[in-house]
Amino acid sequence: MTIFKKIIDGEIPADIVYEDEQCLAFRDVSPQAPTHVLVIPKKEIVSIEQLAEEDAPLLGHLWLVIRNVARELGVAEDGYRVVVNCGRDGGQEVGHLHFHLLAGRKLEWPPG
Ligand code: C5P
Repeated sequence: MTIFKKIIDGEIPADIVYEDEQCLAFRDVSPQAPTHVLVIPKKEIVSIEQLAEEDAPLLGHLWLVIRNVARELGVAEDGYRVVVNCGRDGGQEVGHLHFHLLAGRKLEWPPG
């Protein structure tokens, strides 16, 4: 079981900014920008690589939640970045699909 599943189940506390029946959004414990939120499906999906065709509506929902959370946190006007790390070279450390929402400073490109 991943640490994110424990957060979903309420076994580990998190600073939750949004929750519904399909997903959870909470502040990253090690923020890389003034606003750094993780948006995750409650369904246990390891990474983009493990997505199934049936997950397409869930993914659409996650993107709309990301957009809404950005608006509600007041970062939509200045802009933000959404990052999904996948696998070893992608820098994924937690094996539960998650979208990083980063905002609050001018982000550099390309990423390291
Ligand atoms: O994409 P990656 O797997 O590297 O991202 C995992 C993220 O989960 C990290 O940004 C880390 O700070 C965050 N994390 C967290 N709370 C935990 C464990 C990890 O916010 N309890």
